[in-house]
Amino acid sequence: MVSAQDRQPERPWGPSEVREVLRSRGLRYSRPRRVILGYLSERDRHVSAENLYVALKQRGEDLSLSTVYLNLGVLAEAGLVRAFSGASGEVLYDSNPSEHYHVISPDTGEVIDVTPPLIDGQPLSEFLRSYVETQTGWEIEEPHVTLRGRAPRSDAASVERGAPRVKGSDASDAG
Ligand SMILES: [Zn+2]
Repeated sequence: MVSAQDRQPERPWGPSEVREVLRSRGLRYSRPRRVILGYLSERDRHVSAENLYVALKQRGEDLSLSTVYLNLGVLAEAGLVRAFSGASGEVLYDSNPSEHYHVISPDTGEVIDVTPPLIDGQPLSEFLRSYVETQTGWEIEEPHVTLRGRAPRSDAASVERGAPRVKGSDASDAG
């Protein structure tokens, strides 16, 4: 059974949890990491290292691009942010590390979050993983689901924070 419950992705990381996660990996909760996570946690963001660098610079933060790159990599490795591929294959970083899927517009680069549907009480990717493991005996890594699609053509207002929804992506309205 597929249920499209509206489970809000959790945001589990408070400052003390972040410090704990980093410490367990022998890493410091350094100032660049605080600054980067602070920016990312303000709201749902999907940013490239370059755009993050520019945004922080505009706020008067003095982090070099390589520092931003390096620390995003460390934070992604620690599972505190999630790296994924954007519309043209560029690496984007996600402020929301909890499980969700992305729908990406190849035309505009827009990215929206979609809460995974539940199958037999499990998020789709978990279900898929155990299904494939049972079928093959392989140990499957965490599946990441990315869909490409186009936003409904409507008033611009709904684009900003549209209710996440999964929709068939036929191109019947193209033209
Ligand atoms: Zn996301």
